[in-house]
Amino acid sequence: MSNSYDPQSSPILPTANPPAWLGVMGGGQLGRMFAQAAQSMGYQVAVLEPVLEPGATCPAGQVAQRLVNAGYDDGAGLDALAAQCLAVTTEFENVPAGSLSRLAQSVFVAPNADGVSVAQDRIAEKRFFVGCAGKSGVLPAPHKVIASEADIAAIDDELLPGILKTVRMGYDGKGQVRVRTRDDVRAAFAGMGQVTCLLEKMLPLAYEVSVLTARGVDGASVVYPIAENVHRDGILFTTTVPGPNVSADCAAKAQRAAQAMVAELAYVGVLCIEFFVLADGSLVVNEMAPRPHNSGHYTMDACVTSQFAQQVRAMARLPLGDTRQHSPAVMLNLLGDAWFADDSDAIREPAWDQVLALPGACLHLYGKDDPRRGRKMGHLTLVAATLPEAQQRLHEACLILGIAP
Ligand code: ATP
Ligand code: MG
Repeated sequence: MSNSYDPQSSPILPTANPPAWLGVMGGGQLGRMFAQAAQSMGYQVAVLEPVLEPGATCPAGQVAQRLVNAGYDDGAGLDALAAQCLAVTTEFENVPAGSLSRLAQSVFVAPNADGVSVAQDRIAEKRFFVGCAGKSGVLPAPHKVIASEADIAAIDDELLPGILKTVRMGYDGKGQVRVRTRDDVRAAFAGMGQVTCLLEKMLPLAYEVSVLTARGVDGASVVYPIAENVHRDGILFTTTVPGPNVSADCAAKAQRAAQAMVAELAYVGVLCIEFFVLADGSLVVNEMAPRPHNSGHYTMDACVTSQFAQQVRAMARLPLGDTRQHSPAVMLNLLGDAWFADDSDAIREPAWDQVLALPGACLHLYGKDDPRRGRKMGHLTLVAATLPEAQQRLHEACLILGIAP
C-alpha cells in the first residue's frame, strides 16, 4: 500500500473517544458483551455478521446500533464498517486474515491480521509457542503435523496415545479425535476428510488454567489473575478464580508466559492463553484465543475492568484498565441442556427466580431464542466474599438448573 497514513502505527492517530463508532467482526455472544461494554462507556457499535434469514437476529445484532449484514469477506460490507468506525476488533477468531488486512488499510484494527492468523492455524500456533519458549518459559505438548499416509507411518511411538486435531476451525472440542494406535490415526484422518491435522501427545493433566492479558498500542500490557477451568464433553463447564489447585508459582509462571507472548506478537487487544498443568506441576501451553475468552467472563462481575471493557480501551488507544479482582468468583456456562428436563424434548425456561435468589448470582443471557443441547445460551457468575461461599452457591445453582454439580 502506498498509504502515507498508516492507521496501525501512526503516532498522530488520536484516541477514539466516545461517542465514536467502534466495529466488531462477528455477532455472537462475545460481540454482544463487547458492544454492551463499549456502549456503557458511551461508544456506538457496529457489528458485521452474515445473518442469513430475513428477520433473523444475532446476539450482538440485537444490541448494536448498527448491523452490517454481510459475509466476513464481503468487500462492500468491510468497507462500510471501516468507513463508519474509528477502530475495529473481532470476536470471531476465524475471520479471514485478508479481511482484517483490508480493514487495516483505512481504520485501526486490533488485534491485527498477524495476531489473529497465528491463532487460526494450530501449526502456526505451535510454531509460535516453540519459537517463543526461550522468552515464555513454556512449551506446547509434543506434536506432529499429519498431512498424508506417510506422516502416519512415521509417527513416533512417543506421541501415542494422542489427540488428532484439525489444524483449522476447531472449537469446543470439535474437530478432535482421541487415538491410541496408528490405525486409529488412519481412521480418524480419513474420517476428517484427510484435511491437514496435528497429532498431539495425550498428556496426564492435573488441571487446566488460562490467563487473559491485554496489550496497548504503546506496548504497555496488563495481566488478569489466573483462572482454573473445568471442561465437560470438550466444552468449558466452570471457571474458578482464584483456582483451588493453582500455586502462586504456577500463577506467576503462566502470567509471565502470557505477557511474554503478547509482547512477542506485538499484539494489541485482549488475548487469552490456555495452559495445561501436569501432575508434576509443570506448565504446558495449549492454545491461544485472539479475543476475550469464555474463561474470562468472570471479569465482568469480579474485576475492576472486564475483559470486554479492556478490549474497548485497547482498540480505542486509551490507557488499559485495572485488572484487580475484587471478589472470588465461579463462572458456570449455561448450555441449552438447562432448558430441557432430563430426556424430554420439551423446552422450559430455567427457574431464574430461584437462581437469582442466590446471593452473589450474576446472570448473563445472550438473547438466543432456540436452546439446543450443548449450545452456549449464557453464563452465571457467582461472586462471594470467600471462594468456598461462591463454590457453595454454584452447587446450589446447579441443583436448581438440573446440572450435575
Ligand atoms: P476451545 O473450546 O478451547 O477452543 P478446542 O476445541 O480448540 O477448544 P483444545 O483446547 O485444543 O480444543 O482441547 C479441548 C480440551 O481437550 C482441552 O481443554 C483439554 O481438556 C483436552 N486436551 C486437548 N489437548 C490435550 C492433550 N494434548 N492432552 C490432554 N488433554 C488434551
Ligand atoms: Mg481450548
